[in-house]
Amino acid sequence: MMKNLTRKRILVAGGAGFLGSHLCDRLLKEGHEVLCADNFFTGKKENLAQLSSHPRFEILRHDVTQPLFVEVDEIYNFACPASPLHYQHDPVQTLKTSVLGAMHLLGLAKRLGAKIFQASTSEVYGDPTLHPQTEEYWGNVNPIGFRSCYDEGKRCAETLFFDYWRSYKARIKVGRIFNTYGPRMHPNDGRVVSNFIVQALTNEPITIYGDGKQTRSFCYVDDLIEVIVRLMQSDDTLVGPINIGNPAEYKIAELAHQIRELTGSRSPIITKPLPSDDPKQRRPDISKAREFLGWEPKVPLEAGLKATIAYFEGALSLRTVSGPDLAPFLDHLRS
Ligand code: NAD
Ligand code: UDP
Repeated sequence: MMKNLTRKRILVAGGAGFLGSHLCDRLLKEGHEVLCADNFFTGKKENLAQLSSHPRFEILRHDVTQPLFVEVDEIYNFACPASPLHYQHDPVQTLKTSVLGAMHLLGLAKRLGAKIFQASTSEVYGDPTLHPQTEEYWGNVNPIGFRSCYDEGKRCAETLFFDYWRSYKARIKVGRIFNTYGPRMHPNDGRVVSNFIVQALTNEPITIYGDGKQTRSFCYVDDLIEVIVRLMQSDDTLVGPINIGNPAEYKIAELAHQIRELTGSRSPIITKPLPSDDPKQRRPDISKAREFLGWEPKVPLEAGLKATIAYFEGALSLRTVSGPDLAPFLDHLRS
């Protein structure tokens, strides 16, 4: 049989997590071979259950703070806990994951001449004083606060990516991901969409932190995976950083009311203290993604929320969701 010349062997570090598992699905659908490397800190095998017997899919238990020697054509680095609750659980490990993980995977990419995508974040802008955020903005980040292990770790990872590019011509792609939601978010991860939906479905109080006037812009997972794959497929000259997210901006209080309505919940809406360094506003300027990748998010918030609610309804009733219960750390995280 002839070998499929367009088939690539692709490493997805952090492939058992929320975004990584959707990317594995997508890459396999496109006919590639996929190797998922994950230490299962926040990721779960359940996220990959549909792929367990797939002939082109492999899982490797691996911590990216250690070097990795495999042979691949492309690398996606998603390995890092993303929710504030998870990344503040062990801040030193979070920093090691971002910085050492980037170093090891860049070293691998350099040796192989492989393209490498970094899942960077809107958190590199910190609590932004420029609105909406463009890629040229350098950010407003507290270097010594509770969020710093994540924000500064991701900033340092970007520095490593650009130094590998300048020094060694590494084939880098840096995407700054803004808040993304959808099926397979962890129900206990403390992020706002999963928290509000689980609270609404269980008729528990919906917890707005602060006055709820802070804003975020929410992107549905399918839209995000599409733009990430487009970025990886783009010409080597397009290295980023490039903002990827949905620019429709909502107050957190608006999100709470919308989720309460869509679920038909009886949950009261209550307020709790705002965590320290919580950004007051966030919205991506996606002009570059539009211009260079011809991409536009398609899924409106209501449609995305309905799909996510349906996922949690199923997951909660079947109790198929398991994983670390870090709820006791919540109080410690709030100022
Ligand atoms: P997630 O927590 O669901 O997934 C992260 C995955 O990385 C998990 O499978 C986890 O087990 C794995 N991991 C963590 N530390 C590791 C280590 N040391 N070695 C190997 N694997 C490790 O989070 P997510 O929402 O899927 O986010 C994926 C990536 O995208 C992260 O790098 C995150 O910073 C970035 N990102 C996500 C968002 C978002 O809104 N979801 C926004 C900005 C950036
Ligand atoms: N938030 C909230 N209630 C919750 C969880 C989060 O009001 O139960 C707020 C949080 O303080 C922040 C916003 O929602 O202002 C988004 O929080 P998330 O943890 O999802 O992401 P990030 O702050 O990293 O954007």
